[in-house]
Formats: sequence, C-alpha cells, structure tokens
Amino acid sequence: MKVNLHAHTVRCGHATGTEREYIEEALRIGMTDFGFSDHTPMPFPDDYESTGMRMRMDEMDDYADTILSLKKEYSGRINIHFGLEVEYYPALFQKLMDFLEGYPLEYLILGQHCINNQYDGCWAGNPTEDVSVLKAYVDQAIAGMETGRFIYLAHPDLINFVGDEKTYLTEMSRICGYAYDHHIPLEINLLGIEDHRNYPNQTFWKLAGETGNDVVLGLDAHHIPMIDVPDAEKTAMDMVNKYGLNLKDPLQYLKPSEKS
Ligand SMILES: [Zn+2]
Ligand SMILES: [Zn+2]
Repeated sequence: MKVNLHAHTVRCGHATGTEREYIEEALRIGMTDFGFSDHTPMPFPDDYESTGMRMRMDEMDDYADTILSLKKEYSGRINIHFGLEVEYYPALFQKLMDFLEGYPLEYLILGQHCINNQYDGCWAGNPTEDVSVLKAYVDQAIAGMETGRFIYLAHPDLINFVGDEKTYLTEMSRICGYAYDHHIPLEINLLGIEDHRNYPNQTFWKLAGETGNDVVLGLDAHHIPMIDVPDAEKTAMDMVNKYGLNLKDPLQYLKPSEKS
C-alpha cells in the first residue's frame, strides 16, 4: 500500500506508538502518503465520561500541533495528512463541526461505532439480532454521509447483525445504494482482517460488488506492526477481485489543495 489515511494515536486510549514511529515505518515500506485520523473528541454532556475510546476535547490542540509539525518536518519525503475519524451522533454533530472549524483538517472519515449518541446507545459491533439496531446503524451511516463532510465510510460492515440474512441485505443495500449514488467509497478495513473481527463481512462485500460500489483500503492502524501487513492487504485485494469492487485511491477524495 502506497497510501493510507486511517491511523490512530495514543490519545484515543487504545493505540500505541508515537506518530514519528508510524511515519518512519510507513517510509520504510515505501508509502507516499500517510494520514492520521484519530478518533475525534466529542462534545458530550458534562455528566457523561467516555473512556478509552477517543481523545478529550482539550487534547485536540496537541494532536493538531503534533501532526502539523511532523507534516512540515517530513515534507518532501512523505506526505502526512491531518484528519479525524468521526461518528455521526445527531445530538452532537453540529457542535462538533463548530469546534473543528478552528483546525486545518484535511479530511474526515465516517466510522459509525455506536448507535444514537453513544451515551444513549450501544456499540455497533456487539452481536445483535435486533432489527431496530441494524436499521438505526444504517440510518445513521446514511445521515452521516448526507452531511457531505466525509471522504469515505470506514468499516461500513462494523454492525454485527446476526439475525436473518435477507433482512441484513435489505438494510445494508441502503448504505451501498446511497454510497453508490453519491460516489462515496466504502472502506475495506485491514484491521478487521488482521484481527479476525466480524468485519469484513463477505455477505456485505458481495452486495457492494453487485451494487457497483467504489472502495478504498484502510489500515486502521492502532499499533506500529499494523502498518506493514502484506497478508491482510492480499486478502483485501482478493475480495476486490472476487466481488468486482472498484478500487480507488483515497487521495483522490482530498481537496486538490490538500493532496501534497
Ligand atoms: Zn480505534
Ligand atoms: Zn479507526
């Protein structure tokens, strides 16, 4: 992989390694572009504490300073990109966008980890047969894409619905259809492959192939060894070929001024 825009930092509470180590490893394997997309801080209500999942609001300045100074330092050797991975939480989204306005972010990726607003919902990766959870996940992923703020949908198949397959396909086809109509790529998540998670979900990617979806690959690196994963990359490429997915370079979704 020459380009990866999906990586985390220690600020999220479940990643290791310094930013410099990530960049040096990316350089070592010949990457041209490496983007940090740590889990966004969220303007949660004061009585709610989110632990181990994302940086605090007051850590955003340090995140920005660190990535932007490394971007300068490594200029000419590798292109560093400044992004965030963001959930669409309806009660918080506008407030979050207002807060992020103050930062020169190059891109946001959508990763719908929880239902509702997290504090009043559940983790989307929990196995469930509850059709209302599946529907809520799909509704929120689409509402997120509708905001026009995201360059792609990360691990669209994070939702771990273990009920009726026909229902799964009916609901997930709404995500594939919306993404197709609006030229928003779906991400095959290499961490899911490497970690043997419930995603990538082959049923989903077969559907995406039939829909004609564009796809990108994302490492979702939380640890340095996750940068160089040729076996996971091969598995992802086999899926691209098997299901006839349209592989895209994620860089093409950055604004022209932000590509270098
Ligand atoms: Zn994470
Ligand atoms: Zn991620």
